[in-house]
Amino acid sequence: MTIPLIDLQAHHRPIRAELMAALTEVLDSGQFAGGPFVEQFEEAFARYCGCPFAVGVSSGTEALWLTLLGLGVGAGDEVVTVPYTFAATVEAIWMTGARPVLVDIVEGTCTMDPEQLRRALTPRTKAIIPVHLYGQPADMDAILAVADRHGVPAIEDACQAHGATYKGRKAGSLGLAGCFSFYPCKNLGALGDAGAVVTRSAELRDKLRVLRDHGQACKYQHDLIGWNGRMDGFQAAALLVKLRYLDAANQRRRLLAHHYDRLLADCPEIVRPQVADYAGHVYHLYVVRVPDRDSILAELKARGIHCGVHYPVPIHLQPAWLKLGYGPGSFPVAERCAGECLSLPLYPELSLAQVEAVADSLKQLVRHRRPASHALR
Ligand SMILES: *Cc1c(COP(=O)(O)O)cnc(C)c1O
Repeated sequence: MTIPLIDLQAHHRPIRAELMAALTEVLDSGQFAGGPFVEQFEEAFARYCGCPFAVGVSSGTEALWLTLLGLGVGAGDEVVTVPYTFAATVEAIWMTGARPVLVDIVEGTCTMDPEQLRRALTPRTKAIIPVHLYGQPADMDAILAVADRHGVPAIEDACQAHGATYKGRKAGSLGLAGCFSFYPCKNLGALGDAGAVVTRSAELRDKLRVLRDHGQACKYQHDLIGWNGRMDGFQAAALLVKLRYLDAANQRRRLLAHHYDRLLADCPEIVRPQVADYAGHVYHLYVVRVPDRDSILAELKARGIHCGVHYPVPIHLQPAWLKLGYGPGSFPVAERCAGECLSLPLYPELSLAQVEAVADSLKQLVRHRRPASHALR
């Protein structure tokens, strides 16, 4: 028996006919780059997020980068984010010419610490990017209070939080803009690369539409220096189908996560994911903290249970990013989480019996080992 970390084939099997019909429609229409399917998806996704506008782009990285460009962020500016994220968040800042300024995370939710954020702001700060990690929003009221006092916009990295809520409102709709990735393994995944920005600013929407298409508001009139960041028609059509199943899939992820929670509760060495009072978690990942993580990861793999590590090394300690000038000890919470985190298999098609098999194996391996540092306190 093997249990993968994620199983996309199983996810697509029951909706294969619907997906094929949608893709065939695009093929027959010839509308491949931008066009009516992208517009339909933008409308549907904006409505889903409770936001007036959405702009489809070619990836989540592109969504973040173009949003920063659209807000006029560039050389000489600073943008604050966290070191405990996927590299794309920091890359998007770097590619504008601005300096990424990092702040540590809160231990419980692994998201931006509003107090650290407050201390990191300078007159050069032009934007703040909290990351809704693993499917749980950052503490947006506290972050927006700091951002508003300083007069800078918050851009949500919602690439792992499709359908997640903060005090009942959808992730992505809380700041000035929310950036989404539809990379295949995300909660809402395309059949390739795609992304979107949702926003309540008509001005930003207009800017993004021009920036993603070579700076053209109309053909061959280049008002801005832009880029090719368009969404693909096939991806938009597939996403329109899959969006209809997102809430049910998230509901199933929650049910499986709660099953893990119950099964792991009698093993104090395992730190289970903490859900904030404000959060509707959508469990993009189910991440526990365990002692001796790397050997447990290897032993689980030997038993056919494939786990992941998100993320083994925080950004500030990655070779490419040492140039930011941080080092070991700069962000102790992020560093501790990176050393202990373990992502267990979680996807809507996973069975309760499989969850039980994973939990049993994990508990056997963890018992009699050193407790995670978090559990000690
Ligand atoms: C996936 C992801 C991205 C990047 O999305 P792509 O579509 O792969 O470019 C950015 N930030 C976070 C937190 C992500 O998980």
